[in-house]
Amino acid sequence: MERTPTVAIAGAGIGGLTAALLLARAGFHIDLFERHPALTEAGAGIQITPNAGRVLDGLGLDRAIAAKASAPRALLVRSGRSGRRIVTMPLGDTFERGFGFPYRTIHRADLQRVLAEAVAAEAGIDVHLGSAVAGFATHERGLTAIVESGGRDREIAPDALIGADGARSDLRGLVPGAAERRASGRTAWRALVPAAALPAGIPPDVVGLWLGSAGHLVHYTVQNGEALNVVVVVRDEALSGGSGGDVLWRRIGNWAKPVQALLGAAPAWQAWPISTVDPSGAWTEGRFALLGDAAHAMAPFVAQGGAMAIEDAAVLARHLGALRHDRAAALAAYAAERRPRVKRVWKTAESTADLYHMGLLTGAVRNAGMRFLGGRALLNRYGWIYRWSADR
Ligand SMILES: Cc1cc2nc3c(=O)[nH]c(=O)nc-3n(C[C@H](O)[C@H](O)[C@H](O)COP(=O)(O)OP(=O)(O)OC[C@H]3O[C@@H](n4cnc5c(N)ncnc54)[C@H](O)[C@@H]3O)c2cc1C
Repeated sequence: MERTPTVAIAGAGIGGLTAALLLARAGFHIDLFERHPALTEAGAGIQITPNAGRVLDGLGLDRAIAAKASAPRALLVRSGRSGRRIVTMPLGDTFERGFGFPYRTIHRADLQRVLAEAVAAEAGIDVHLGSAVAGFATHERGLTAIVESGGRDREIAPDALIGADGARSDLRGLVPGAAERRASGRTAWRALVPAAALPAGIPPDVVGLWLGSAGHLVHYTVQNGEALNVVVVVRDEALSGGSGGDVLWRRIGNWAKPVQALLGAAPAWQAWPISTVDPSGAWTEGRFALLGDAAHAMAPFVAQGGAMAIEDAAVLARHLGALRHDRAAALAAYAAERRPRVKRVWKTAESTADLYHMGLLTGAVRNAGMRFLGGRALLNRYGWIYRWSADR
């Protein structure tokens, strides 16, 4: 009988967990290594757009995700300073009819739990917590990698190795021609506000987006509506100091009343310095391939970093499943298929950053343009992102 080929995956984030499930179902044995001794996720939210939702649905996870997620009815864009509405983009049923799948928001820990439970229930996946893949080498016979666990090193020789080890990936540095991580000069400050403490002017059934030259603020509900996830992205200060609250009061403390009330209601802020990895760099080396943020970390302005990791996993599983005996060719085909789309999304995220953080005058022109186009037309401009499906 033919031996079941093994794929080792470094990193059990959204990308690594999804890849483990899809590859196991494509007939591979999976060794999933996670550096941390437990699967933990920062207290923050994530938006699941249809392109990612469809992949998760294909794994049979949509019901479990929907049970923990919210489905906002609209995306309401307002001016940070004046509080005036700029435009409303329809989500809810209109969005689902247009793009074939719902728009959901969920707490990251809830998404990770759904994925981790599915991984635990899947025969053919061994999860190794507290185990870091420290390096690998490719050679004529394939690939060997070193796994560090409990102060000891051991060698493994999987049929393929996937580096899903995040934006700060150590494995990326071992790929000749890979891009380097770059600091964006912006930090995302995140907080969870209990639903009971929601101030007036912050409707819980919409994704709220507030724009201003000092930065932008996004909020949406998570945990079955029990909490509001709040993210504020501002440029890093030359002279920074104090807590997240201090920084945000300095930068956007003069914004409209509901924003001020939201800042006041946030119990604590976590900083997430935003860094990016240019997707033009190399992603593969023989039987090794990068996936997710490790290959192409992007700015969070179109809420697609996690979605791209999920899409990567689906395309990777298709190519490895089809070319079972030539793993290096399968990985090269995966990178070749993914790169153009990821580049386009990555660039869209960069240009959206400039659009969101325009100065007073250019911002007024932007607002007039958004009003002129209207919510539906604006949303349709992202249709190419949302309509994606793993089946070509
Ligand atoms: C403010 C903000 C908001 C965002 N909002 C959205 C959104 O709404 N929608 C969306 O789709 N995306 C969003 N993103 C992006 C998304 O969070 C990331 O793109 C996504 O989490 C990347 O997943 P990943 O699996 O590639 O990497 P990670 O989640 O970083 O996982 C990497 C894992 O690898 C482990 N690891 C590292 N090194 C090793 C090693 N050597 N061996 C073994 N394990 C290792 C780490 O411990 C970690 O668990 C947002 C990002 C930010 C900053």
